[in-house]
Formats: sequence, C-alpha cells, structure tokens
Amino acid sequence: MADYDVIVIGAGLGGLSSGALLAHRGLKVLVLEQSGRIGGCCSTFERDGYRHDVGASIVEITQPIELVFKALGTSFGEEVDLIPCDPIFSVMYRNGERITVEKSIEATGKLIASLDPADGRRWFDFCDYCSDMMDVLLDSILVEPADTLGDMARVVKKNPALLRYLPNFMSTYQDLIQKYFKSDQVQRTMAYQSLYMGMPPALCPGPFAMIPYSEHRGIWYPRGGMIRIPEALVRCGQKDGMELRLNTPVTSVIVRNGRAKGVVLEDGREISSRMVVSNVNPRMLYLDLIGEQHLPWLTRTGVKSLKYGKSLCMVYVGVDCKPPLDAHHSYIAVSMQEVNDFWAKHVETGVMLPANANYGLVCWPSHSDDSLAPEGHHVLNVIPESFYHLKGTNWDAFKDRFIDEYIDYLSEKLVPDLRGHITHAIGSSPVDFERHLRLPEGSIYCFHQDASHQAVFRPSSKSKCIDGLYLTGSGTHPGGGVPTTMSSGYIAYSQILKHERC
Ligand SMILES: Cc1cc2nc3c(=O)[nH]c(=O)nc-3n(C[C@H](O)[C@H](O)[C@H](O)COP(=O)(O)OP(=O)(O)OC[C@H]3O[C@@H](n4cnc5c(N)ncnc54)[C@H](O)[C@@H]3O)c2cc1C
Repeated sequence: MADYDVIVIGAGLGGLSSGALLAHRGLKVLVLEQSGRIGGCCSTFERDGYRHDVGASIVEITQPIELVFKALGTSFGEEVDLIPCDPIFSVMYRNGERITVEKSIEATGKLIASLDPADGRRWFDFCDYCSDMMDVLLDSILVEPADTLGDMARVVKKNPALLRYLPNFMSTYQDLIQKYFKSDQVQRTMAYQSLYMGMPPALCPGPFAMIPYSEHRGIWYPRGGMIRIPEALVRCGQKDGMELRLNTPVTSVIVRNGRAKGVVLEDGREISSRMVVSNVNPRMLYLDLIGEQHLPWLTRTGVKSLKYGKSLCMVYVGVDCKPPLDAHHSYIAVSMQEVNDFWAKHVETGVMLPANANYGLVCWPSHSDDSLAPEGHHVLNVIPESFYHLKGTNWDAFKDRFIDEYIDYLSEKLVPDLRGHITHAIGSSPVDFERHLRLPEGSIYCFHQDASHQAVFRPSSKSKCIDGLYLTGSGTHPGGGVPTTMSSGYIAYSQILKHERC
C-alpha cells in the first residue's frame, strides 16, 4: 500500500492547482516544495516592512483561474481580494513624454485616434477580432489537453470555431498588429506586450497579438501580493486534507516497471505514491530526476531539443515617496524593430545593451495596494531587459553594475529622482532565479513559447513514457503565465481522472 495516492513535486501554481483539485476529489495528496515559500514565480516576500512580488505582477485572463476555483467548490473572488487596476498601463517615451492607457476601449480608441485617426478607427475592428479569438481560445485549446494530434482533433471537433484562428499560429504577433495599425507611434504602444509571452514580435505566435486587447477586459492585483493566489490554493487543498512540506527537495522520481512509484528526497528518504505530478521544469524532470536509463530514445531526444526561453533581471525596490508614475505598469516605448533587434543582436550574442538604450518595465504594485509598504512609502519592481548568457562575464560579477546603471538612467530621464528616494534595491538576476526557484537558465516560462514549443510540441501533461506520471506548470501545455499554469494544473487533474483509478 503506497504512502499517498499522489505526490506533487513543487508548490508553484501548476502543482498547487493539481494538488488541491485532487485532494478535493478525495485523494490523499502530499505536496513537496524545495524552497521555504509557496508559489514559485507567483509569490511574495517581505523585507523591512515592504512586500515584494517575486515574479508575476498582475492577474489577467481570469477564466482558467475561475475554472480551478469553481472545481474546488468556491470562486476566485471569494478566495482572493482582487483590486481592479485602471489605468492599465503607461508608456514612457525617451523624451520624457508619457501616454496612459485606460481600461475603457472607447477611451483607448480616442487616444489612438489622437496619434493616428485611421488607426483609431481600426482599433475597434481589432478589438472585435481579438474578442472573438480570445473567447474561442479560452473555451477550447487553453483549457484542454493537447498531448496528441488526437487531442487536438477532439478540441477542434468540440469547438470548430477554433479552425478560424489556428492559422494565426503560423503568423506572428507583428503580422497581426501591423495588419491593423500602420502608425509607428501606435505600434510602439503595443510592441512591448509581445514580451509578456517571452518573445519579440517577429517570433511570438499571432494569437498572442490579442494581449493589447485582452488587458482591456481587466487586470487585477491580489490585495497583499501575488502570493494570495497560491495561498488560496493551499487553503482549499488543506481543507480537503492536502499535506504540504516546505524545504523538502525531491532528488529523484522512483520508476519501477515503467511506472512512477514515488520520490526520493534530498536526505535519502523514500516516499511512495500511486501517482506523481511534477511541477518541475520537464527537461530537469526527465534528465535529472528520472534519468536517461528510463527514457526511450524519442523522449530523450525530444526533451533535449527543447530550448529554454526568456529570462529576466528583476530589481525589488522600496522608496520613501509616491513615485512620479501613472499606472501599475509603465514601460519604455519601443518599436517592434528594436525588440526584434534586441533578440538578434544581444540575446543571441550575449552582449548587453548600454543602460540608456535598454528598455523594460517598471511595475508599481503599491499604486493598486497601499498595504504593501509602510505609510507614505511604496514598492516598485524594476525590470530591465536582460538574458541569461553573457559574453565575457557572468551575472554574479555583472549584476550590481548593470542594475546601478539602469536605475541611474531611469532616474535621470524617466522617473525623476528615483535614485534619491530608494530605501533598498534587491537585484535578482537570471542566475539567481535559476538557483532559488530551480528555473534552468532562469527561463521564466520554462521553454520558448514559439509555435515549435506549443501544444503537441510541449511536453505532455500525461507522460508518454512513464505510467502514473503527470506534468503540470509552465513547461507543459498551455505554457507560462499565471492563468495558463493554473490551466495546466486543471488539465493534469482531468487527465488523472480520465486515466487512473481514483
Ligand atoms: C521574473 C518573472 C516575472 C513574471 N511575470 C509574470 C507576469 O507578470 N504575468 C504572468 O502571467 N506571469 C509572469 N511570470 C510567469 C509566471 O509567474 C509563471 O509562468 C508561473 O507562476 C509558473 O508556475 P509553475 O506552476 O510553472 O511553477 P513555478 O512557479 O516554476 O514553481 C515550481 C515550484 O517547484 C519547486 N521545485 C522545483 N524543483 C523542485 C524539486 N526538485 N523538489 C521540490 N520542489 C521543486 C520550485 O521551488 C517552485 O516553487 C513571471 C515569471 C518570472 C520568473
């Protein structure tokens, strides 16, 4: 008799969603987390009375999150106090000018028309197109398994409207945005958002061009920090008996006769289970935790061919004043070409841009939730564009200088006197993310998210070579991001109900 029905490795959003849902179905579930905190990339830590989010900074596209909480017998709104964010973002031009974008589609249409009247008219056509595409994707491929071509065929049969939008996966974000918007200034307000999917506009698949529209359906911030979402999942899971152990790294998955039978902990102890759900990067899972000897040739080769995706440097900043910003998110205006060039000339070669040519995002969570900092103080997440592989140096040697120069640039040109008000600034480089969150190469979405790493090309939610092993999190379909990883947790749960004795 196994110790548990299910062991979940990792307390990220994917692992906790699956764990809580399986516990709700009456299974005996144990979640093992290597770090001292839940939530992985979607978490919050405290420093001297300031609360900082580790990675994810906002909630949008809430349908998959609602799906998980509904299946848990509750709702997202009941479990997490969501603060609506409006305006949704601000664009900072290098000459000091700014434009601020409100949630209202009509107000945004007027704003775009003030930049280019024809683009202003086309904004409404763009919204109609993206609205329909978003509803279709959310009702189909984003919440269903996509392990096999058979799965894909079933999804299309269930929602034939998907056929209208599948060809967009063969086009790019840039193609779709440029089809609707001709003005460079208007395109500059939308270029950065392709990086929300971890890719420049010329590589990002076409369907994600809906992001400049989808943000207008609403963005929210959980009062108290992003950790409120994983906390809600733990609370729901624990009501149904789910156990959680922090500071408990798993070093291997026990595989006997082709079936996952439990795990081995770092201290050598073994815990047995009927099934294992992994929230670990799938390349690390298969090559390190399972071992090549258990993998058929095709899995070994397939897993090794997966490319890690975008990584980030994040600076957690406390300030003793109200920052001169206008919205929860402010990013530096940048053209499609600049983002594409950054990829080709810098990410690929390892040569970093000088601070005054870098761009990036400043996130201001205490604009939405003033409980995050002492009275009159605020927290910011400063996110310059960066990458993992540096030429001729390494992140431990380079980090402090890189961050200092970027903050000086912001302070001089875009966020006046930021430098003079900083109480603390804690930098986390791609290598720090790799060490602390076990994200190989600091890759925030596990792998690239281009068409060759989507759906059937991403590791399957039900392992194809090891019975009883299920994958969840950003390394499996439908990829990285808060709503999508919760979707993957729901998919792993539904696969277990379908394929196992529960
Ligand atoms: C800097 C940054 C910024 C981001 N910004 C946004 C954003 O604004 N919006 C958005 O939607 N998304 C954002 N994301 C992405 C989003 O946060 C992630 O896609 C999502 O939270 C990942 O969830 P996950 O389930 O894949 O697991 P992860 O968050 O990767 O968690 C996996 C967990 O498994 C644990 N673990 C790993 N190996 C082991 C082991 N061997 N034993 C035990 N435990 C183990 C890890 O410690 C971790 O807690 C960001 C991510 C980062 C890093």
